[in-house]
Amino acid sequence: MAVRGPGRLTCAAVTALTLAASARAAECPVDGARLTAPAPRAWNAGAGVDSDGCTWSITAQGRRVADSDALACPRCGAAFAADGPLPGRLPPDAAASLLAALAGAAPPESAARRLERAAEVRAALGAGAAEVGALLLRAAWAARAQAAGPGPDGGYRPRTVPQAREQLRVLEERARRGGDQDPAASHLEAAAGDLDLLRRALDGLLPAVGGPDLIAVVRARQLVGLVERRVLEAQAHLAVTPSEAGLELVLARAWARFGDPERRERWLEAARARHGEAVAAEAARLRAACAEEARLLAAARARFEQAAARADAPSERARLLVLAGDAARRVGDAEAARRLLGQAIEADPDGRLADVARALLER
Ligand SMILES: [Zn+2]
Repeated sequence: MAVRGPGRLTCAAVTALTLAASARAAECPVDGARLTAPAPRAWNAGAGVDSDGCTWSITAQGRRVADSDALACPRCGAAFAADGPLPGRLPPDAAASLLAALAGAAPPESAARRLERAAEVRAALGAGAAEVGALLLRAAWAARAQAAGPGPDGGYRPRTVPQAREQLRVLEERARRGGDQDPAASHLEAAAGDLDLLRRALDGLLPAVGGPDLIAVVRARQLVGLVERRVLEAQAHLAVTPSEAGLELVLARAWARFGDPERRERWLEAARARHGEAVAAEAARLRAACAEEARLLAAARARFEQAAARADAPSERARLLVLAGDAARRVGDAEAARRLLGQAIEADPDGRLADVARALLER
């Protein structure tokens, strides 16, 4: 039987307060159950506070598109994008057919799965391919956010594509030189050496002193031990800087964000060659998140191509083809990317999207 001591209650109260401050609550349009979602956060919060320079991660208003997550129902497994208005309570027959489609679906666990479920629900409710594709694309971004962090980013925090290129170039140069030693590391090493000398000097005094002097020397020795521990703590902290823990992993993550699976794999291979087992778990985690992103990008691309085939307005057709082309580029399908981006330029040669397509072709 659970004991509800005061400590436990305090803990529950704190949890409730935290949830109240960070969650948006709503009712499930399918069955009226209470929906909650984590507080919105920057999509790549795990790796910085910026965009990765990905053309499509920033809306026209400058907002990061995956700042919002999806609300998921713990009872029926339905999910809905959290940033738009939720549909009202569904008519009983629509709710029943959606429940049948979701039968046995577990509540989605990750942001990527919640957004993918939201896309499935919108599709079941009759949404068009462009809307469903957009939700799938956001799901792919959420998976990419998983790939990008947490972990040291080595200063890779670009806000534009040219910045991303420049920062990647600098990082690769550093990695080829074997990673920079943090200047703080050598200062700490020197400090540790000085403390060692001081400790030995005090130890040498011990047999020669007595009375109040002995107490003072013992006290000084204790203080030296305390400072030594602080230096060790600082050194342990430095040990997680990129140069020590694998600049190669930082680069693999950065190329994953930039959308170059070939270079991502090259740096993962370099990380394995240099650090062996020490990086195996992180490499596996990164690959799994990238595979999830690729799966969702493929699903999004199929929807965008469908919608583009039916789009009448040239600018809308170009927009959908650029989205499909960038999804192809990000999974390393260069041929499909060239074809789709070329079609986007053809669809609306003088439009803004044609410029975006040309820039993506150059990457
Ligand atoms: Zn529900």
